[in-house]
Amino acid sequence: MDTPNSPPRAANEFDRATIEAWAGQLRGEAIFPDDNAYGEARRVWNGLIDRRPAVILRCAEAADVAHAVRFATEHGLLTSVRGGGHNVAGNAVLDGAMVIDLSTMREVRVDPVGRRAHVQGGATLGDLDRETGRHGLAAPIGVVSATGVAGLTLHGGLGWLTRKYGASLDNVVSVEIVTADGRLRRASAKENSDLFWAVRGGGGNFGVVTSFEFELHPVGPDVWFAAVFYPLDRAAEGLRFYRDHMRTAPEELGSIAVLWTAPEEAFIPEEARGDPVLVFLACYSGPFDQGEAAIRPFRDFGEALADLSGPMPFVEVQKFLDADYPNGRNYYWKSNYLNALTDAAIDRLVAHTKTRPSPLTSIDVWALGGAFARVPTGGTAFAQRQAPFLIGVESNWDEPDRAEENVAWARAVVEDMERLSGASAYLNFPGFSEEGEDQLARAFGAHYKRLREVKAKYDPDNLFRANLNIRPAA
Ligand SMILES: Cc1cc2nc3c(=O)[nH]c(=O)nc-3n(C[C@H](O)[C@H](O)[C@H](O)COP(=O)(O)OP(=O)(O)OC[C@H]3O[C@@H](n4cnc5c(N)ncnc54)[C@H](O)[C@@H]3O)c2cc1C
Repeated sequence: MDTPNSPPRAANEFDRATIEAWAGQLRGEAIFPDDNAYGEARRVWNGLIDRRPAVILRCAEAADVAHAVRFATEHGLLTSVRGGGHNVAGNAVLDGAMVIDLSTMREVRVDPVGRRAHVQGGATLGDLDRETGRHGLAAPIGVVSATGVAGLTLHGGLGWLTRKYGASLDNVVSVEIVTADGRLRRASAKENSDLFWAVRGGGGNFGVVTSFEFELHPVGPDVWFAAVFYPLDRAAEGLRFYRDHMRTAPEELGSIAVLWTAPEEAFIPEEARGDPVLVFLACYSGPFDQGEAAIRPFRDFGEALADLSGPMPFVEVQKFLDADYPNGRNYYWKSNYLNALTDAAIDRLVAHTKTRPSPLTSIDVWALGGAFARVPTGGTAFAQRQAPFLIGVESNWDEPDRAEENVAWARAVVEDMERLSGASAYLNFPGFSEEGEDQLARAFGAHYKRLREVKAKYDPDNLFRANLNIRPAA
């Protein structure tokens, strides 16, 4: 076995017959570069990622995962783990690696009486919402349905319900996880509590989660949703209103203010299509009869270009943004927490909106606080609870030859915000982690040392390194 600092062995150094003979014991399938399924199986959501793993193991059950991990550990193989395939940096696939692919392990079982969901490690947010929604229940997850539950939850999980119920990881009751020794363990407050602490924030560093147990909450089935578009010349004033309003807004109100582009759609006046805009998006998950009043301030702020607000099934709210994030487009997303949304920060964000190289690109201002901020910081490995706002900078573009300028723009916006508020990225929007360990040390703060110790206990040889990698303590 290699040491944490020596490179693991590429899986394609193995002769195919060895892997094939071994993989014959799986209930799932092994996909090799010359198989028909390979082209599709190696693709992830971000079109910038074009990697060629040596073999993709489509696991069918937890026993397959355990089997694969044992094989990888025994031979010191370069390994990656795929959940929903929506990681922006494409960590699910690596050149020459063995991919432990959970994309067909998507079962969701709901206990409506105990208000729990058991969710397999390859499920998408849409899989989870569909099953919980049948019972008028929901887990707090993200806002685009094709995203993987696993990657999202292991580093946080922010969405419409965060201010009321916390991040996704705050609602995890237990996990079943295959650690680097190939053992399937349960981790909860009572069992392997150090591992349970670490997986709630520490990402895919500690093993392959085959199943999550989530606490569920009554939501909907119908909620009030706001989607109100204003011209960019109202954006600075609009963001000041947003900042002040969200300070005292009910925790049931989840919201994102988005600096974006008016779509070429009939609901936008013809002369404004394609112009930069400020969009208030908000979802009120409290009592239905209070929802209209709760979202009203976003509609009354001024003369809107368009207002798509109204009552909606919560499961539809969860898909409202889906069409804006197709597979295969080019994406580069970065972020920074803001200690305060100052007038200076607002003016800079509006100015940056005007210089976006691509009209598909947005700057998202997520309002945090509420239950999310009240979770004791030491309770989970996730350490970034106190900032009232998170700035997500999403460079999205279609032209293959324009990566450099789109990436450079996003980096420049984030550097500008860091000058105002210090540097700390949300690890689900980490760019390509160019800052390496510095980014992790800042994001985890005092938790970083303990995370390295837990890593050394459960993954001493750093098998799970294709991620925002926490190196095992020496
Ligand atoms: C369109 C879109 C919308 C998004 N919206 C939100 C949002 O609303 N809120 C938010 O907080 N984030 C959001 N994100 C960010 C998202 O949380 C991350 O990109 C996350 O990494 C996606 O997880 P995945 O399982 O789909 O990714 P994958 O690429 O499959 O996995 C990413 C990494 O997670 C780890 N991993 C995956 N599955 C497992 C597993 N079963 N066990 C152990 N480790 C595993 C591995 O380290 C892997 O490299 C969004 C991303 C996209 C692309």
